[in-house]
Amino acid sequence: MDFSPAPIEDGFSSERLFNQGYSYTYDDVIFLPHYIDFPTDAVLLSTRLSRNIHLSIPCVASPMDTVTESYMATAMAALGGIGIVHSNCTASEQAAMVASAKSRRVPIFSLNPMTVKAPDGCIDSFDGLDYVFVTESGTTKSKVVGYVEKSDWENLSDKKEELFNYMRDCSSKVSVPWNYDLGQINAVLEENELDFVVLEKDNEVVDVVTKEALEGTKGYPKLGKGTVGSDGKWMVGASIGTRESDKERLEHLVKAGINVVVLDSSQGNSIYQIELIKYVKKTYPELDVIGGNVVTMYQAQNLIQAGVDGLRVGMGSGSICTTQEVCAVGRGQATAVYKVSSIASQSGVPVIADGGISNSGHIVKALVLGASTVMMGSFLAGSTEAPGAYEVQNGRRIKKYRGMGSLEAMTKGSDARYLGDTAKLKIAQGVVGAVADKGSVLKFIPYTMQAVKQGFQDLGASSLQSGHELLRSGTLRLEVRTGAAQVEGGVHGLVSYEKKSF
Ligand code: 5GP
Repeated sequence: MDFSPAPIEDGFSSERLFNQGYSYTYDDVIFLPHYIDFPTDAVLLSTRLSRNIHLSIPCVASPMDTVTESYMATAMAALGGIGIVHSNCTASEQAAMVASAKSRRVPIFSLNPMTVKAPDGCIDSFDGLDYVFVTESGTTKSKVVGYVEKSDWENLSDKKEELFNYMRDCSSKVSVPWNYDLGQINAVLEENELDFVVLEKDNEVVDVVTKEALEGTKGYPKLGKGTVGSDGKWMVGASIGTRESDKERLEHLVKAGINVVVLDSSQGNSIYQIELIKYVKKTYPELDVIGGNVVTMYQAQNLIQAGVDGLRVGMGSGSICTTQEVCAVGRGQATAVYKVSSIASQSGVPVIADGGISNSGHIVKALVLGASTVMMGSFLAGSTEAPGAYEVQNGRRIKKYRGMGSLEAMTKGSDARYLGDTAKLKIAQGVVGAVADKGSVLKFIPYTMQAVKQGFQDLGASSLQSGHELLRSGTLRLEVRTGAAQVEGGVHGLVSYEKKSF
């Protein structure tokens, strides 16, 4: 007789859990802990965005006009992730943002809060500042051509005088090469007792770093390996739509040096996208193309056959999104990521879990369920690097965050993603909102990644690949959480509490 114990059956395999006819989102499911035999810091989060783009952290900034412009793209690349510059603007504006993100090396933004346009801009006040920088466009997104000292401006008899007559040449300050890192810049500032240094490339001023801005980053975790392309510049992506005119937009973006293009449709399984994928692969064979959005295996298979290098997964899971309400289509994000990843992995196509990320636990779930990266909107909106100015609402500092399918964004041009451009009546699939000030991504993303590593350690997964293997082999077990289990899994039963994550 055989007295050996029966194998322990506990929890569900992913295959069984995701084939029950339910659409699960991240909060519905929970992993059962596995076995730890390595320290947290041994967990590797390096990954691929697409077939040929390698990242050291699995984070992607979404192509939304309240999330990713040049500052966010620079900061995400400096962190080892990547930003996808939005297309809700003219092709040349988008290309300029890409070029600016790539040409900056340091991810801190000294040009805030005030810049003025050369040569015809006017300064109305210094508002607590000692100097104002003069840039080509008057915004922080273009090249610096000089600076104005407060005392020079105060001594002007005619405050409308042309800037070129009294601004100072940046070269009178100490210049350093554009690709100096923060430590090297700090040393130059201290050695020369300067308030700012000028970063130069090919004898042109590309940026400035002030002592004040640098001081502000001193408590941040040290930056790891950034995402640098073969040209020595940051890797930056950009989104385009699927109209004929987007081919021309792409030409501008390729000239600006994009490393990857994201075809931005809310339902990516269309003849328009499939033809565009083929066009991009034929015209720019070196450029990785990411297709989507998809949520089913069938949709994914069509785009894989058309030649995509990466797939963006999510329909209706975004925090600002109303697609499931308006159109009755979509899928719970955990199920969508799992299903699409299971087919994409067979062809070696990385999956981006797009939307619905509001904490580090969601990132762990997305990655272990098969994604190679997460794309975030609301999680990054409200940061220092997100476009737009802070406002104060009910005593809280907030920044605007809006869906690209909101009427407000579509009126500016983003309607192609939601097929609104040819329709006579525009129907919104998103809302306009606001998110709280979160500080700099340079600070909260490293902390978030540390939390993700702890999640991986609890699962006994020392890398994304090992997480995927443990899941597919049935070693990792999951369960669905009841409503009460979800309440229990959060903070509960307290009269009040303060939640500080790091
Ligand atoms: P979040 O990270 O805020 O949850 O979601 C961001 C994602 O939502 C974006 O990357 C994009 O896929 C999607 N998205 C952005 N704007 C809209 C919108 O107006 N409607 C819909 N349906 N999805 C949106």
